[in-house]
Amino acid sequence: MSAMPLKLPKQLLAEMISHALEQDPEECCGILLGKGENATRLRRVRNANENRISRYNMDPLDVLEVERDADARGEEFVAFYHSHTYSQGYPSDTDVKNAVETGWTDPYYVLVSLVEKTRPVVRAYRISDTGEVVEQFIHVRGAGGYTSGSTRPQVVE
Ligand SMILES: [Zn+2]
Repeated sequence: MSAMPLKLPKQLLAEMISHALEQDPEECCGILLGKGENATRLRRVRNANENRISRYNMDPLDVLEVERDADARGEEFVAFYHSHTYSQGYPSDTDVKNAVETGWTDPYYVLVSLVEKTRPVVRAYRISDTGEVVEQFIHVRGAGGYTSGSTRPQVVE
């Protein structure tokens, strides 16, 4: 498993937090696009789970559409993100199981936790094909350098 930090511009961090706050108390989800460990663009995806307060499934048609869009621009799936509205920003057993079962273990998994609504916490992980979860650093461009394993950005408008 690569131990490279996930790199993203401050704007994408803000967009993920905005998305999480807009959908609260339901979980939001989406995809960060770019190359390798560099995310440069965000696409929201609908949460197709019936129990969106504590679960998420990315709408498969949305994912297909994002995949086509990314292919057309020569972009890769850099990360999947989703929010936890009532729990810490750590992948749940279901999140790990889904990652392993879908085989999507190359992208980072980004968690936005809204346990403290005024202090969203964003953390990144890699999940191996055996279900091993390893936290990754997030390197935020335009935010005065790099943050450690978890970032505690201010709430954005
Ligand atoms: Zn989750």
